[in-house]
Formats: sequence, structure tokens, C-alpha cells
Amino acid sequence: MGEHSDLLARHKSVMPNWLSLYYDEPIELVHGEGRTLTDAEGNQYLDFFAGILTNMVGYQIPEISEAIKEQVESGVFHTSTLYLIRKQIELAEQIAELSKIPDAKVFFTNSGTEANEAALLLATQYRRSNQILALRNSYHGRSFGAMGITGNRGWSASSLSPVNTSYVHGGYRLRSPFKDLPDDEYVAACVADLRDVLATQTAGDVAAMIAEPIQGVGGFAMPPDGYFKAMKEVLDEHGILLISDEVQTGWGRTGEHFWGIEAHGIVPDAMTFAKGLGNGMAIGGVVARPELMDSLTAQSLSTFGGNPIATAAAKATLDYVLDHDLQAQAHKVGSMLRDGLTRIAEEIPAIIDVRGRGLMLAAELGDAQTLEPDTSIAAAVLEETKKRGLLVGKGGLFGNVIRMAPPLTLTEEEAQQGLEILAESFASATGTSV
Ligand code: PLP
Repeated sequence: MGEHSDLLARHKSVMPNWLSLYYDEPIELVHGEGRTLTDAEGNQYLDFFAGILTNMVGYQIPEISEAIKEQVESGVFHTSTLYLIRKQIELAEQIAELSKIPDAKVFFTNSGTEANEAALLLATQYRRSNQILALRNSYHGRSFGAMGITGNRGWSASSLSPVNTSYVHGGYRLRSPFKDLPDDEYVAACVADLRDVLATQTAGDVAAMIAEPIQGVGGFAMPPDGYFKAMKEVLDEHGILLISDEVQTGWGRTGEHFWGIEAHGIVPDAMTFAKGLGNGMAIGGVVARPELMDSLTAQSLSTFGGNPIATAAAKATLDYVLDHDLQAQAHKVGSMLRDGLTRIAEEIPAIIDVRGRGLMLAAELGDAQTLEPDTSIAAAVLEETKKRGLLVGKGGLFGNVIRMAPPLTLTEEEAQQGLEILAESFASATGTSV
């Protein structure tokens, strides 16, 4: 047995079957530089998925490597919460300010799941209710509580959640009953649905609504701008908090805005974040209104959340994003990528939707008339792009969505190179001649 297939066999014997790898022949990555990754066999790939939106600014960024090295070499990388950690405090101050939430406070965790757990805990404590509203097709993490607010059946394994959740319309427009309405009527129909859900599925004392401004695992699906503003007006009438899950949409990835929710012209009560912040290091957290954050009376800590190494990496990453105005870069290169994808879709009838914003873009595959999802084309596109040296993501409710979310440092040349590979790969996977 070759070394590679031996590794795969060992993976299969020791890992649970719900941890599925990409590709017929899964790859082992051994090197990364800029936006390019190299596998154990020496093949190079342009990375259009940034890990899973985790390598926000690319690989081997000297400023970030230095910050991590310095912290490691200081010898100080203990638990997080008993002593003052300079980088943690500086990072919290920076995030609080960037959040635009007045007098915001920040709690650090190790992941997006834990960030959402913390947000749920705070909201339910503050409002003394365990009723939560979430969006259909949502994904918020893999813990017991986070799965209880995850609407996407492919990803929500547990129906025995401690959270009392009702799901509302809006996030996944292509498959919404209101999809053919113009934007303002679509939003009005979703607001009417929210009012109906509140009146018919809850006892009225709902703690919070949690939502991804652009649904990540759900296939980069999103409502029209203004949706969350209109929804929040109803939530405010009932004192219901709004938690924006910015795990995928934060830090300028969506281009025009620093946070995904800003496209809707509102500031939420809390935001959760993770993924790109540490450029690959494990860090997440919640930023929230102070009264919400202070509602816990019991002592609480996270042993590793916001630890010195993760916060050093995160501070350096966030500084890098701001110093290099990567939000503007995401907007510029993302617009170019989106235009290119739209042109590809004109030639490939199986692409039934191109959506997203900034460097968070997706193409959904299926039948344009019936909207029947096509998972086999999506799987083929994944293999075709790999063959040509491009890594993309797959996702969506049915696994029929190709997702593109490269590091925010992607250059126009790299975007062009990726588009050429995508055009060839979509054509090859669908048997279309272009
Ligand atoms: N929230 C969103 C929107 C996500 O996309 C994810 C992960 O994909 C999570 C939460 C969970 O984050 P983690 O995998 O870091 O626990």
C-alpha cells in the first residue's frame, strides 16, 4: 500500500464517518505560501476556500508568523483567564470598537460553535427565556445547543436540543416560497412570516433571533439588503435580541462592509465571530452590549479561549487586514470574480444561481426550471478544479453549491487564473463546450 493510501485507510479506521473528506483521492497538504498550497505529491493549488475561510490573509505572512513566534518564545502560553494578557485586551478593545455596539464587551472562545453557545447562554440568561428564532437553512456549529439552532438538516444531527427554536423564512431566497417577489415584497412577506411565527409558535417571550447575514454552510445564500432591518423592527417591538453570526461574514470578507450585517443598515445586540480572525489559529468570541454580557452572575471562564498565542495571531491578523485595507481588496477582486462567474453561468445552464458578495461567492447547480439540485455536477466540479490546481468549497442544503472564499489578499491575476480554471471545470463537469 502506498504512503498516501495507507494514510487514508488509517483516517477511515480512526475517524467517525460524519467527518467526510473532499475528493475521491483526498489530499494531504504539506506547504502553503501566499494563496498557494502544495500537497504531499508536490501538486500545487490556488486556494479559493482559505481552509474553511480560516486563512483570511494567506499563508506565511511574516507579521503573523513573527507575532506567534514572539509569543511562543516568551514562554507565556498558559490558560487565558487568571492573568492579564496584553494582546487579548488590545484585541478585545479593537473588536469592541469595530463592532459599533455601544460600550461593547468581548468574550473569547476557541471556535465559532463555542461563540454561539456563549451568545445563546447570554441571551437566554438576560431575557430569562430559552426560546430562540433562527433562519431556515442556518448552520451555527456542532455542539448540542448550536445544533438546536441549525435549520439545515444535513448539518443538524440532533433533534433533542435544549433550545426551544422556531425557524423563520428569508435566508435562502432561491428556495423560498416568496422567491419570485421583488425585493421589498419579499422582505414584507418574510416580516409577515416572522409575525406569524411569533404569534403561533412561541409564548411571546422569545430571547433572541440568531442569523448569518450570508448563510455559510447553507451555500452562501442571503436575503436582500434591508431584510434584517425590517425584521429587527419587529424584534424590537417584543424586546427580542438580534445576534448576528459573523463567523463567516466578518472582517471585511463581504467587501462593501466590515460585518455582513452592516449591509442591512443596523447594529445588532451581539455578534459572534471565529474562523478568519486567527488566520488559522483557533479563536472565536462574542461581542455584545454590556448589559447582555454582564447578565451572567455565576463565575465563568474558558481555559483556552483567548489564550496568548491565539490572541497574538489574531491581533496581528486583524492589524494586517486593516493596514492593507483588505476589505477594499475583497470588494474589488470579489466584484471581478462575481462578474466572471456570471459570465460562466451564461454558458453553463446547470448553474442556476450566482450569489454572494465580496470574496464570498457561490454557484448553485441544478435544473433551472424545476430547481432540482444536481449534486453529481457539484462533485464533478470539485474533482475538475482539483485536477487543474484550484481548491474550492462545496456546500448548500443538498451539497449542490460550489463555494469560493479565497484569502482576502487574492490578487486580480490570481482571480483571473481561478476564473479560467472554473470555466474549464464547469464546462468539463457538465459536458458543455465553451
Ligand atoms: N457559525 C457559522 C456561520 C459557521 O459557518 C460555523 C462553521 O462553519 C460555525 C458557526 C461553527 O464554527 P466552528 O466550526 O469554528 O465551531
